[in-house]
Amino acid sequence: MDFREEPELVQFRQEARAWLEANRPTDRGATRTGSSLSDAHSEAELAHVERCKAWQRTLYDAGWAGITWPQAYGGRGGTGMQQAIFAEEEAKVGAPQGIFAVGIGMAGPTLIAHGTDEQKQRHLGPTLRGDEVWCQLFSEPGAGSDLAGLSTRAELDGDEFVVNGQKVWTSGAHYSDFGILLARTNPDAPKHRGISYLLLDMRTPGVEVRPLRQITGAAHFNEVFLTDVRIPADRVVGDVNAGWGVAMTTLTSERALIGGGRGGRDVFGSLHATAKRHGRTDDPVVRQDLARAHTHLQLMSYLGMRARTAVSQGKPPGPEVSVMKLAHSQNSAMYANLALALEGSWGMLARGDEDIEAWHENFLGHWAGRIGGGTDQVQRNVLGERVLGLPGDIRVDKDLPFREVSRAAGGTR
Ligand SMILES: Cc1cc2nc3c(=O)[nH]c(=O)nc-3n(C[C@H](O)[C@H](O)[C@H](O)COP(=O)(O)OP(=O)(O)OC[C@H]3O[C@@H](n4cnc5c(N)ncnc54)[C@H](O)[C@@H]3O)c2cc1C
Repeated sequence: MDFREEPELVQFRQEARAWLEANRPTDRGATRTGSSLSDAHSEAELAHVERCKAWQRTLYDAGWAGITWPQAYGGRGGTGMQQAIFAEEEAKVGAPQGIFAVGIGMAGPTLIAHGTDEQKQRHLGPTLRGDEVWCQLFSEPGAGSDLAGLSTRAELDGDEFVVNGQKVWTSGAHYSDFGILLARTNPDAPKHRGISYLLLDMRTPGVEVRPLRQITGAAHFNEVFLTDVRIPADRVVGDVNAGWGVAMTTLTSERALIGGGRGGRDVFGSLHATAKRHGRTDDPVVRQDLARAHTHLQLMSYLGMRARTAVSQGKPPGPEVSVMKLAHSQNSAMYANLALALEGSWGMLARGDEDIEAWHENFLGHWAGRIGGGTDQVQRNVLGERVLGLPGDIRVDKDLPFREVSRAAGGTR
């Protein structure tokens, strides 16, 4: 990996910057991010969703959407470095973000790797254009860190699967068109080997979405109840009962997405502006904190480059994505604490300033960041086992038929 920007990347950055400057969103509300929606399930949120879609269409029409996606699916066919550069520049113009993380960041790469030609043709273009929003229907009340313990069932009936079960913590389910769904198709196989990966149209009869309200006031995620939901059998991604491997592609993309780089918001710019606004830039302790924040942002950016370089060379990103995910959740706490300390008591009374409100929500939401996308402890397990070569976690149920595991655990399956 080379940290210097090659001449063609310098040119790419200039081109991207010029286009973004000329086309930057002008609507004030357009700068709000997905996580700053404190009035979810409301008109304001729906308006934000529409702004995100409009911006994504603008990117798509101008050839800036899906920079690393193949051109055959509407992408730019570019490199991971170009993607990182565009995300940095996009953050500077305050583009609306937040609703395409699952579709473009996770479902799309999974379909590119494992989908049939029909699935790719049907979904990749509309997803990249922002016409289709996706949610991730993985976690269940009894299956989060132990995702392979999931119990939502999908039973084949003719050429359709009939799905019954409950999902939870489903971000954005209330405005999503499709969901990537993990369901158990063979309870007699060991738990990792009886799961299938399905594409669910969220408007199918039997799908019920109920909001869950968070400490920030937002209802960013939901419970999703599935009752006799019929999914055509050709919407399975990969082979039936081989969904765990497909899900690994999604989860790796998710960790890289959460940890990787500088999309979304100019964090250092905002911290520096806050320090300046309060006349604190000469304070040696504040300068040290700002330098620490800058250093960590740079380190994350380099780790992101390393992961993207691997992907652009056709290699899967390694366990470094777990380092990124773990560092991201710890760094987020550091940035939010610094912002609030800089604002002091004045910040508690500030209303209507988008930047300050975003820091308040970041502060309240940073605990969630230690859980979503795999908890800090789970990332440490991955690093301990796959990087440091420490003995594995104890997994007594790994080779037992799932039906026996659930009976032993007192479950209902
Ligand atoms: C903001 C946010 C958004 C989310 N969005 C989605 C979404 O869109 N779709 C979706 O499917 N899910 C989503 N989730 C769910 C998320 O993936 C799960 O919450 C997460 O995987 C943890 O599962 P759990 O909540 O069941 O906790 P548990 O797995 O029950 O964990 C409880 C505690 O035990 C610890 N623990 C568990 N197993 C081990 C182990 N083997 N070793 C050490 N410690 C362990 C955990 O670290 C944690 O501290 C979201 C979560 C959050 C916070």
